[in-house]
Amino acid sequence: MPSLTVDQITKRYRTGTEALSGVSFAVEPGTLLAVVGHNGAGKSTLLNIVSGLIRPTSGTVATDIGRGRLMWSPQRTMIDWSLTVRQNIELVARLTGTPSSSIDRVLELLDLDKVSSQQAEYISGGQLQRVQIGRALVADAAVYVLDEPTAGLDPAAGEVVMEYLRERAAAGATVLVSSHDLDAVERTASDLVLLDEGRLRAHLPIQEFVRRA
Ligand code: ADP
Ligand code: ADP
Repeated sequence: MPSLTVDQITKRYRTGTEALSGVSFAVEPGTLLAVVGHNGAGKSTLLNIVSGLIRPTSGTVATDIGRGRLMWSPQRTMIDWSLTVRQNIELVARLTGTPSSSIDRVLELLDLDKVSSQQAEYISGGQLQRVQIGRALVADAAVYVLDEPTAGLDPAAGEVVMEYLRERAAAGATVLVSSHDLDAVERTASDLVLLDEGRLRAHLPIQEFVRRA
């Protein structure tokens, strides 16, 4: 049974832009789904709707995850500048009842342990990006939704993040990751959704895409 079902989603912004038009697909548990497409294709809009950050104009998103949780990392940063790196992640850990051992694990995973006591205001862009991801990865979840998690990271850091997400998917989570760079995600994703001007152009296992390309 799908853990996530996106049914006939259309999003028209107040400006009149139709960012998504009748997008439907379903995702099974254990899937690492890459959502790809050009800039402006509707990736962020789709992920924000799935995360519950914005409402679609029409259509529905259904999650079948029991008491499992959905963790998200939007493209626009939600960092609290006055807090340290550790406190930014701790905030989410507290809200989700996650033990502090998970904070240590995620700081180490994302190579943030050495800057953990620095105020967010004073760290680099790549480090900020990793704090943002850390806030999504610190808690166990049934669904992870990450908007461009590898953008702005060096390739090695990007691989660490994708490999961790692959492990979460292998453990049964459903993971959605957007990217404008298919190369960055195709080795780790199991499935692919291709958006083009707000429309779903393809939804297929990654092997089929690689064969076609
Ligand atoms: P992507 O993530 O693939 O780059 P987006 O979902 O960000 O695509 O954008 C899809 C379309 O919707 C683009 O034309 C973009 O300019 C427009 N758009 C995105 N967010 C807003 C908004 N808050 N208000 C108006 N238009 C928006
Ligand atoms: P670019 O100029 O960035 O290479 P593309 O035309 O390749 O643009 O398309 C944008 C994104 O969608 C890229 O990540 C690309 O690899 C991917 N893509 C292009 N065509 C397909 C397809 N038929 N199926 C799946 N993904 C595709």
